[in-house]
Formats: sequence, structure tokens, C-alpha cells
Amino acid sequence: MTFRIYPTLEIPETLAAGPGPGNTDARVLQAFANAGVADHMQADVLRGMIECKHMLRQIWGTKNTYTFAVAGTGWSALDTMFSAVMPGDTVVAFANGTFSGIDALTLRIKAATPSEHAANPIDPQAASVTVVEVPHGQPVTAEIIESALAQYKPKWAFMAHWETGSGRINDLRGFSEACARHGAMGLIDAVSSLGVDDFRIDDYPGIAGWASCPQKGLCCLPLTYAPVSFTDAYIDTLKSTGAYSYVHNPIFEARHWGIVDGQDVEKGTYHRTHSGYAVAAFHEALRLTLQDGLAKRSNSYRTHEQVLRDAVTALGCEVTSDMPSLVVLNLPPALAGREMELVQNCRTRGFGIWPTLSAPVQVRIGILNQLNHHAVSRIVRLFAEAMRELGADIDFEEIEALLESRYGTSIAA
Ligand SMILES: *Cc1c(COP(=O)(O)O)cnc(C)c1O
Repeated sequence: MTFRIYPTLEIPETLAAGPGPGNTDARVLQAFANAGVADHMQADVLRGMIECKHMLRQIWGTKNTYTFAVAGTGWSALDTMFSAVMPGDTVVAFANGTFSGIDALTLRIKAATPSEHAANPIDPQAASVTVVEVPHGQPVTAEIIESALAQYKPKWAFMAHWETGSGRINDLRGFSEACARHGAMGLIDAVSSLGVDDFRIDDYPGIAGWASCPQKGLCCLPLTYAPVSFTDAYIDTLKSTGAYSYVHNPIFEARHWGIVDGQDVEKGTYHRTHSGYAVAAFHEALRLTLQDGLAKRSNSYRTHEQVLRDAVTALGCEVTSDMPSLVVLNLPPALAGREMELVQNCRTRGFGIWPTLSAPVQVRIGILNQLNHHAVSRIVRLFAEAMRELGADIDFEEIEALLESRYGTSIAA
């Protein structure tokens, strides 16, 4: 074996224009880089965590005491949320794309009995879990939810709020109401909606658990903090059953955020080592979100998504999504089948767009933290250029005219 020290890793600046991560906000990066060396029990780190908890409750519109964040990314928060699901628990999970599909797998892993695990260790077929598959590109509707929950009356029900795989918005209101009607505890994957959509947890009383991520709508760094929120009913269930996890047990984790026995306490106590850098970054991301205001931000996403949608439609693409932060599209018939090639070409130029991660192959272009006319116009031009490179006949003047008609020449939005 040869001994080798590689040169310092250099990573170029790219434009993250996919479903997420989005481009981390410059203010967040500053906060991360400016944090001093301090351990996880240093007074300002602990105070920062308490302040984050309070800001997160405001952003998410909730009085849930168990509202805090989990070190990691979206799957860390989701694993924490699913930790109360025990072997043999009855579950109905709605899956309409890549991410809710993985959530459904996680639920089968959590609810599987030892013999079900042994029979198929990486894809256990838990008899107590019913997965309702909704085709890619279609939403989970109130009717679909109602009929499944009425039939199965499960202990837990699961849905993704926004399914980022296909770019579809699912019916949160219908889900919450059906959970309340049928006595199910609702669990929501809000990884791609928090910080983009203007919604309040406390308006959805049928939902007992929520999980999100740092690096999408909140414009924070991946591997900082992934928000979670739980009702007292969720915590009561967890108390009565326990969970097969120390690190991702919400009751243990909440202690470091100053939540003990259902009460806020002045200071957190040790659960695991936390990072002062991550706390500083997350704190700034939450401040930024509160300063922008969710109503204004969600309007802005809608405005800019409409421009991107209209521009790619003018380029001959067919948009099949309805998420305000993401456009999922089919290329024009002449380019069908060349989606991966197009995405790869964009990536080699530092323009990070994505294909879908499960069939059918589509292209996904996102605008996370790109809410101004320069950024969206740049995304449109880069995409048009990539289509031209594959041989599409692009009328650049028409595209410029469209951008100008939407944004004007002097708008500094
Ligand atoms: C991105 C995403 C995830 C996965 O989150 P990570 O941050 O990659 O761990 C899960 N669910 C949905 C809906 C997502 O958009």
C-alpha cells in the first residue's frame, strides 16, 4: 500500500438549482465561519439552542413543546419521527414518489417483527404496514386518504406534504381531518415545504409528528439541524412504548434543547455532542426566515416559479409538477430519452439540476434561495443553452422577451 496525502480538497462554487439542497445563504455561511471554537455545553451555544427552539416554534406556528431539531439532514429528522413506531404497529403510508417511497420503507423497517426482518432484512414486508401507492406525478388526495384510513383504522398514518420526487403537493388538510376522524396519529414528511410554504402546524390537529431538513426551504447547511415537532399525544405514546433508539428518541434529544418532562427549562442538558458552528448557522437561518416572513417568501416562490414554468413551457417542455420551489418537466419529444445527458452537461458546467431519482425519467429544476429576477433568468438561460446544445431549436429572443415582460428591465426584485 502506498502512503499518500492528497492535496487540499477544493470544491468549486456551483449553482444548486435542483430540488435541494439549495444554495446556502451567505449570511448562514458567515455565521458558520464566524463561530468561535466552543464546546456543546458552552453557555452561548446552549443559549443559541434555546433561542433556535423558540424561533422554530414561531416559524412553524406551533405551541408543541417538543419542537426542536435533530443533528443531520431530513432523514435524521424522519428517523426520529418514526422512532415511536414499534414492531407490529398498524400503519397506512401514502407513497407518490421517491421520498415518500423511502419513508414507507422506513416505516416497514420500524414496524416489522423480528421474523419479518429475518425474512427480508433490507426490504422487510411488514404485514402491519399498508402502503397506498399513488402513481408518480399524481397527488395524494383527500378521497384516497379517507378511504384508506376508514378501511384500515391504523395507529399511524403517513404522508409527504410535498413529494419532491415528482414535485407534487399532497392534501395536508384532508390528511389531518381524516386522521382526526379515524383516530390515527398523523406523521408528515415536511422536508421540502418548511421555509417555502406559509403553513402553521397548529392548524392541522390530526397530525402528531412533523419532520423537516436544514438545507431546503430554511437555506441552512446540510448536516446542521433538521427540525421536528411533536404533539403531547405523540410523546405520550412514545412514553408508553419506548423506542429502539437512544440518539433519535425525541424525549432524550429534546433535553439538550431545554425540554424536560414536557416543560421548557432554562438550560439544556447533555444528550450528545452538538456543534457550535452548526448552532450558529441554524440560528442565522431561522432569523433570516423570520425576517423575510413566510407569507412574503411563499408569495415570492410562487411568482418566480410561474416565470420558470412559463419559460420552460415556451422552450417546448411539459411541466407536470405543482410545487412552488421546483419545476419537474418532460423534455420536448425530440429530446425525450436524453434527460440524463442534458443534466450531466449542465452539471459539468456547475449548473446543478437533477433528473428524477425513480421512473419515469424527468428533469427537475429548483429555485431554492434564488428568489430574484437575475437568478431565475440565469437558470432559464442556462437551461435553454443546454437544450440548444442537444440540438433543440431555441428562440433566445423569445425567451428574453418573456423574461423582460415578467420582470421588466429595471425591477430589482
Ligand atoms: C430531500 C427530501 C428528503 C431527504 O432529506 P435529506 O435531507 O436528503 O436527508 C426526504 N423527504 C423529502 C420530501 C425530501 O424532499
